[in-house]
Amino acid sequence: MLTIDAIPALQDNYIWAIHNDTHAVLVDPGEAAPAREFIETRGLKLEAILCTHRHHDHIGGIVKLRGVYNVPVYGRRHPGTQRIAGNPHITDDLREGDRLHLEALGLDFDILEIPGHLEDHIAYLAPGMLFCGDVLFGAGCGRNFEGTLAQLHDSLQRLARLPDDTRVYSAHEYTAANLRFALACEPDNPAIQQRIEATRQLRDAGQPSLPSTIAQEKATNPFLRCDSEGVLRTLQAQGLADTGELGVFTALREWRNHF
Ligand SMILES: [Zn+2]
Repeated sequence: MLTIDAIPALQDNYIWAIHNDTHAVLVDPGEAAPAREFIETRGLKLEAILCTHRHHDHIGGIVKLRGVYNVPVYGRRHPGTQRIAGNPHITDDLREGDRLHLEALGLDFDILEIPGHLEDHIAYLAPGMLFCGDVLFGAGCGRNFEGTLAQLHDSLQRLARLPDDTRVYSAHEYTAANLRFALACEPDNPAIQQRIEATRQLRDAGQPSLPSTIAQEKATNPFLRCDSEGVLRTLQAQGLADTGELGVFTALREWRNHF
């Protein structure tokens, strides 16, 4: 049976460990020591490292891990430009439409390119589970460092169309802070109020607030609710002209940057 555990790393990152009784893969190991401890204490064999994108807090542990475990590193190998160095650790390049077969876990991931946080950000999708790095967070979304806000909006819309029961494994524990913003956007949304309480209970018990589900995100995440009347009302009260869903999304992302 497959188990998925969160390994806390750095300030507020999660390295996701997907494993059975004998084998494991790691998603976005930003730090080597906690990942290694997880693997060693359980006597697991590391099979592969999966990268969603090239930010240091997602790849910072790879060199040390590969010094111990000689495993492939999957991800999108950015060609590199003057401006962008790319991800130097990738051994196996993945692109939109690829299928990654992990024999030891009996697991296949479909690869989705979801630009907008970085231009070469990818997600790993299997039935019922999505590893989406820094694009979709609990009740929030990533910042727009590269590419356009329209790309980020499109990427989020694409994830929102996944089956409702798909579990969302984001790479940071940001849910509580994001929910404070969500509540400011939609003070009358009872699903947000319920999620604030549920998140508080999980965090007080030392548990991650993740994974969430696509259904939960659609009900509470303002960035997936740009067409909701409550969000629109709040923004209009702040002087937003009616500029359609992308206009609402842009205003939300701007507001969140300074919230
Ligand atoms: Zn990032």
